[in-house]
Order: sequence, then structure tokens, then C-alpha cells
Amino acid sequence: MADSKRLLVRGGQVYDHDGDVHRPGVADILIEGGTIAAVGAHLAVDGEHDVIDAFGRLVVPGLINAHYHSHDTLCRGLFEELPLEFWLLYTMPMGANRSKEEVRARTLVGALESLRCGITTVQDMLGLIPLNEDYTDVVLKAYRDIGIRVVFSPMVADLPPLAMVRGQDSLPAEVQEMFGTKALPMREQLDYLEHQFKRHPAAGTLHWALAPFAPQRCTPQMLEGCAALAHKHDLPVYTHVYETKGQALIGRERYADHGGSLIGYLADTGLLGPRLNIVHSVWISRPEMERMAAADAGIVLNHLSNLKLKSGIAPVCDLRDAGVRLGLGCDNCSGTDVQSAFQAMKMFCLLAAVSEPEPGPPLAHEAIRHATLGNARTAGLAGRLGALKPGYIADMILIDLDDVAYVPYNSAARQLVYTEAGRGVESVIVDGRPVMRERKITTIDEDAFRREVAGLMRHFIADYDAVVASRKHALPHMLAAHRKVWQTDIGMNRFVNRTR
Ligand SMILES: [Zn+2]
Repeated sequence: MADSKRLLVRGGQVYDHDGDVHRPGVADILIEGGTIAAVGAHLAVDGEHDVIDAFGRLVVPGLINAHYHSHDTLCRGLFEELPLEFWLLYTMPMGANRSKEEVRARTLVGALESLRCGITTVQDMLGLIPLNEDYTDVVLKAYRDIGIRVVFSPMVADLPPLAMVRGQDSLPAEVQEMFGTKALPMREQLDYLEHQFKRHPAAGTLHWALAPFAPQRCTPQMLEGCAALAHKHDLPVYTHVYETKGQALIGRERYADHGGSLIGYLADTGLLGPRLNIVHSVWISRPEMERMAAADAGIVLNHLSNLKLKSGIAPVCDLRDAGVRLGLGCDNCSGTDVQSAFQAMKMFCLLAAVSEPEPGPPLAHEAIRHATLGNARTAGLAGRLGALKPGYIADMILIDLDDVAYVPYNSAARQLVYTEAGRGVESVIVDGRPVMRERKITTIDEDAFRREVAGLMRHFIADYDAVVASRKHALPHMLAAHRKVWQTDIGMNRFVNRTR
């Protein structure tokens, strides 16, 4: 197939992390077999090459979303005002035991939005229920069909979802049931994963990762099992840690044997190391950050969902000072309502101001580095993905510099981070294959797909309405547990703009 094998992106301004990030120079990019073969002026090609004219375009490494869940994309726009633990009561049932048609559609919805926003790789930490081969095949086929790169990691956990809630025992039995009081056995889940690695070997646009849901949802045996699988198959690991203040309390109360720390628990079960990425870390302490940095473990920040779900603000300046390697994510579609690395990068730069009024970083080009090279590192793809250099995987986006976001055009890095809304993304290349060209998705029939989603939503919304009705009497109990968390002083404040 000519379009996936030999391609020349001609005459664009090619963004180079190590070059002039404000006014990148013009160059051609030669792509062969999904890899960047050369970057330079006036590269010669033969008739076998497809050519994309990138004159007046900014060519940027494809953005990577290092934290995402495709299981709730159809819930976009259904929520606001709910803190995380409340929101889980609604999103968890809407992602579980759905039809295969719906699972395909929700996978494509998120992938489509991602591509149109310049994201060429999603790290899908999928809550796949039921956790079986048929559903795995549906999801992976959808990703293959639309052509986005995926770091796929179906989540595993052998303690029930209720374990995520601090003060779980104070909730009435029926509210405990709403969260879920059962979990699959460890061995069944790890065997499933290992079997899938063999059925769908990592190649092309598919990569695997391990995703123990969260330390507090896993027995030590499960975490040790994940560490062993990660080592055996050379895979990265992602897990949710310290998203909310309640989770910091869970660490102190339930994991006293591990220094009252979920990081300590991960260390004691063999997971703390260069493969590990913890997601969120809003409520991480300074000694824990330093421990993470010393272990070369990473943190994936998700400011958008942390704010929308009232979890707090991750301590960007402290994390930078501690030297932790960082990535950026967009998180759930119903927890941020948008898959936009542009918004995630902007938040990363802006929110430092809540703790640091002095002039100084983080700067726009650093945010771009996190969203490309940093996020590639989280997936174990350092040196292969995230830059436009010979030998790197050919994932890139073309930004239309005629868009008003670049009128006038003063800085590529700053205008990508602070001004770009996604509107300028004109063409997207993944693995050397143009999957969007001049704003048209080339891999699926987008209009037909919109009609399909609209049809599926009639049933989906009816189910959602039933879930909402069933949750009503849980809310006062949730509020009581939530307030107990907030009334407990743990020596950290992740909300700084309130004086009382
Ligand atoms: Zn998450």
C-alpha cells in the first residue's frame, strides 16, 4: 500500500524539541515503512512516494495521551459538579456489560476525537467488563480500523471497587453494592492478559502495558504478579495513585505496614521502578515524590479531570523540584469531557501559578516535550516515539498556520500550548499512514459513524436514566463520607484559593 509505506511530507516547518521551538525551520520528512527515514532540505523521491504538501504548515510530533479510558466516552457531557467518588457511582455501571456494537462505537468515538485533536497515541487503561477475548478483539479491531496508535492495558484488580472509597464500612450495604463488593480472582485476570499478549502480539500501532487499577484495589499477590508479568514481557505499568484526598487517607490508614504510603506499598510489592507510572498524584507527599524520582518512576498528570472531579491540583512545582519524570494525560471522557492534549499542556503550564508566583517555568516547549517524549517514555517507547528525527516512528500532525490561532505567528511552541484549540489540526499521520488528510478522516466513514452513534445513544440514555434514579438515595451517605475526608487534616492542601 503506497500510502502506508513511502511518503514525503514536503516543505513544512518541522518542530524540533532541540532546535528553535519558536520558529522551526523548513524541511522535508521522508517516511519509509512507518519510520522516519530522513529529515532535510529538498529530499529526492521517486514516483513510488505519496507526497503531502506541508507548505505553510507546522509539522509536530504526534501528541500522546498518557492517561485515557475509552470505556466512558459515550458519557461525555452527562456530568458536572460531582467529586470523583460520587461520579464513579454513575460511570462504572455505564461502562460495564455493554453490547459489542456499543463497545466498538465508544472506542471509535474517543479515537476519532483524539485524532482530530492531534493525538496519535492513546494509552487506553480500559475497564473491560466482561474481561474476555471477544470484547478484547472488538476493541483492538476498532483501534486498527481507525488507525490510531494504542498502548493497550485492560485494568485488573482483585479487590472490589468499594476499596476505592475511604470510610467504606460506614456506607449502607446497598450503597456498598452500588460500588461493587466483588472482584475477579487474580490468576484468572493475569492469565487472561498473558494470553492476549500472545494472541495480539505488539506490532505496528499496538503496544501493551499492565494496569493494576490502583494499589488499594490489589492484593500484594496481584501487584507482585503484575511486576512479574511486566518484567517477563518488558512492559510498562500504569496505576492510579493519590487521585483524591480520600486515597491519601486510605494509604495512611490501611497501609500502615508500608509506611502509611501507597508508594511504599508499590515498592514492597516490587512495582516501584523505571517501568512504573503512577497516574494523578494530586495528594503525593514530598518524600514520596523524591522516592519516585530516585526510582526513575514516572507520574502522569491529569489536571483537567482532577479539577472537574474536585480532586485538587497536583503540585507541579514540587514535582519538578523533586525531579520526577512527568507525562500528561486527558483521562476519562466524562471526567474532562475532552480529549485534548492542547488543553492538558496549557493546564500544566498555567496551574504552576497557584503555588509559585515568581517568574519562571514551566514553559510551553517543556509541556510539548512532556506530551510527546515524556509520554513516549511512560509507554516504554523512549527513543522510538515523540520526535521528528530519522529512526523515529512516523507519527506526526500538520497544523494549518493560516488558522487565526497563528495570526500573527510569533512562536510555534507558545501558540500550540496557549492558543491552539485543535482547530488547526489539518492532517494526521500514524505509523507513516495518513489517517486524516485535509481534515477528512481517511479510515472510517465518519458520517455513517455519527448516525450509528446517534442510534446507539437512545438505548444508552435510557439505561443511564435508570442508573441516575437508582443512585438518588446514596448521595447523602456519600456526602457524609466525603465531608469526613475533608475535615481530616493530613498536612497537605491541594486547594489553595480558599481562605476559610
Ligand atoms: Zn484513570
